[in-house]
Amino acid sequence: MPVIQDRYGRTFRTLRVSLLNHCNLGCVYCVAGDDAVGKANNAAAKEHAAAKEHTASGIDLNTLKTKTAHGKHTALSVPDLLTIIERLHGQLRLGTIRLTGGEPLLYTGLVELIAGIRSIGIPDIKLTTNGFLLERLATPMKDAGMSSINVSLDAIEEEVFFRMSQRRGVERIIRGIDAARQAGLSVKINTVVMRGMNDSQILPLLDFAFSRDLRVRYLEVMAMGHLYETADRYLFSQKDILSVIASRYHFTPLGRTRSATANYWQTDDGHSFGIIANESQPFCGDCDRLRLDSGGNIYGCLSSNHPIPLGSEETEMEWSEKLQKALLQKQALRFTGSDLSMLHIGG
Ligand code: SAM
Repeated sequence: MPVIQDRYGRTFRTLRVSLLNHCNLGCVYCVAGDDAVGKANNAAAKEHAAAKEHTASGIDLNTLKTKTAHGKHTALSVPDLLTIIERLHGQLRLGTIRLTGGEPLLYTGLVELIAGIRSIGIPDIKLTTNGFLLERLATPMKDAGMSSINVSLDAIEEEVFFRMSQRRGVERIIRGIDAARQAGLSVKINTVVMRGMNDSQILPLLDFAFSRDLRVRYLEVMAMGHLYETADRYLFSQKDILSVIASRYHFTPLGRTRSATANYWQTDDGHSFGIIANESQPFCGDCDRLRLDSGGNIYGCLSSNHPIPLGSEETEMEWSEKLQKALLQKQALRFTGSDLSMLHIGG
């Protein structure tokens, strides 16, 4: 089997799996305008349905739907996902898998899937969630083998949270965060900062995180989906974020570990925070991430809008060639933007 590596020495060690391409929030960076409101309303109804399904033990209601990266809602079944993940692990010796979406907690076979991934032997199983359904699922996920989670929280003030996500429920997310920590999961908070939208929340979120000894990571907004051509307008850069934090705290850099997404700093009283500076300090040079979308397509880079479908009948050699092709999608220097929303490709 050929070694899967590009001319910069990069390979795939982390797999991000988008379990489904719909969500129970309508965040402004994922979904455009009126569409966001409609999607959030629909999503609230779906969440209600999913909550019922989660409690119906042993019933997996997932079905393999149309294989499109853009259009309809898609979700692969647990056995199909496990087959793909096991084959990819066999070829790549993955170190980490991150489950995402869409909103991964809406995926009804989630706990079974985590247990299955654990038995495949991938050392680190992580997940990114908006936290709406976390309170109930934290302990089952931990028991099934999950090690850590990132909770997306773009505001502490309810009105700002609503402006960002088209839903209310900050308290509910905080209860989820507390339940996750109590269950023994390692928790980080992710906040996308958008100029004029939620930059007022940088310090309140930091205070919240420090009061619980949590790490918050601020993300520069990326030119994706409907923001492909307008993200600049909302960019609140790493430099801007640091200058807001410097108005209250003195801090020193901790740096960034290889293949990580965030730069970290430590305050004088020992708390730390991070910034994922996709735009102002890109980290493509040692990126080791491979993405699998909810239709069974792989992508080597968020900048790519060219899904590579994996066929279940294909040989190891054919998959290896596709992985090499995905690796070629990686940018050498910086993220160049994509009209594919993270809702589809997985964040
Ligand atoms: N629903 C889950 C959640 O809210 O965390 C997982 C999927 S969401 C797409 C994953 C991450 O992508 C979130 O932290 C979200 O904030 C981030 N994201 C989505 N679009 C983005 C953009 N245009 N720029 C920066 N971050 C973005």
